[in-house]
Amino acid sequence: MPKGLFSQAATERNVFLDERFLYPEFIPEKLPHRDNELDSLAYCFRPILQGRKPMNIFLAGPTGVGKTVCAKYVLRELEQSHDRAKSIYLNCFEYNSRPSVLAAIANFIGAVVPRRGLATDEIFTKLVESLRKCSFTPIVVLDEVDQLMLTEDNAKLLYDLLRIVEYEKLRLGIVMISNDSELTAKLDPRIRSSLAEQTLIFEPYTPSQLKSILSERAEKAFVKGALEKDVIGVAAANAGKSGGDCRVALESLLKAGRAAERANTGKVTVADLKGAFADVGAVSLLKGLKHLAKDELELLRIIAQSQPVLSGKIHEIYSSKKGNELKERRLREILAKLEKQGLVLVRAISLGNMGKSKEYSVSAPKDMLLKEIDLQSK
Ligand code: ADP
Ligand code: MG
Repeated sequence: MPKGLFSQAATERNVFLDERFLYPEFIPEKLPHRDNELDSLAYCFRPILQGRKPMNIFLAGPTGVGKTVCAKYVLRELEQSHDRAKSIYLNCFEYNSRPSVLAAIANFIGAVVPRRGLATDEIFTKLVESLRKCSFTPIVVLDEVDQLMLTEDNAKLLYDLLRIVEYEKLRLGIVMISNDSELTAKLDPRIRSSLAEQTLIFEPYTPSQLKSILSERAEKAFVKGALEKDVIGVAAANAGKSGGDCRVALESLLKAGRAAERANTGKVTVADLKGAFADVGAVSLLKGLKHLAKDELELLRIIAQSQPVLSGKIHEIYSSKKGNELKERRLREILAKLEKQGLVLVRAISLGNMGKSKEYSVSAPKDMLLKEIDLQSK
């Protein structure tokens, strides 16, 4: 083994002061350019302080524009200054069924719900009982809530929540977050008026807004002078092009910083940054992959390998493998989910007098996607 792998010399050209300031889940002290959104959120929770019920709010806007971080930020402030409210954050990629969400909320407020064995109605009853006894106002954040709308049964969760707040008159705050601004329009009007009393649309950041956000975070993350002059500007411009996505910008800075550390130059260059771009775009897209079920991954693999491919053909390939069986309805459900997550692209195809079909292909580079699928399938 070569000497000095961990010596002072090998690490002295740090570019990071603390790279955690660039992590996507980090909640910064300040959120520039989101004053109005933070105010609107706070406005919804303020009634709690007077012992009244909070207003339920729906947050929408494209990826990486600060929906999640703003919700978490305001709720953290609320909990730190008042003990009347406590929040639970559920990402619906992970909590993607009606019983799993109900059980998580019930457990959070002190009911004991076993992981398995209870019917959904029983979980609901336990939840209502515990809510009656609850000494604080629970606020439930359902992030990526459209993941729950993919099947009819899971979508019933919203009726459960409606029942709790409208008919049982129990105190519960609800924050729903989605990339789909049209989602509320698709909801039952009763649900909309009760669970989305307020709607807040987040606009993409402009490159100049991204620049100031990035500067703020980079100042804490990097050693002074470690960034070549144009790095922040180029990162902001690139993220501006990809729809004002701040996550892409932060991740590209992080990756560029790591590349510079590996090269041990003590300086993050625009070249390091450009090297990071290709990587990051795809990472952001593949975000949902780790939550896919086995059959979902398998279909995605088939699409990647046979693209462009018609839905009937996908079904045929899948079913030709031993032990595989897939109902038509489940196939449609999975394809809709993969499309919604941006993992596949769909094109309507006319088959002449045989009607219409849909043709599927993958949106990420095929080889990279297949490699990720392999990793997830292990
Ligand atoms: P969304 O939920 O809209 O997809 P996020 O809230 O996850 O977006 O934001 C993406 C990333 O950008 C997160 O790391 C978040 O901390 C950061 N971010 C977003 N807006 C701001 C802001 N105004 N200031 C600082 N960081 C921000
Ligand atoms: Mg989010």
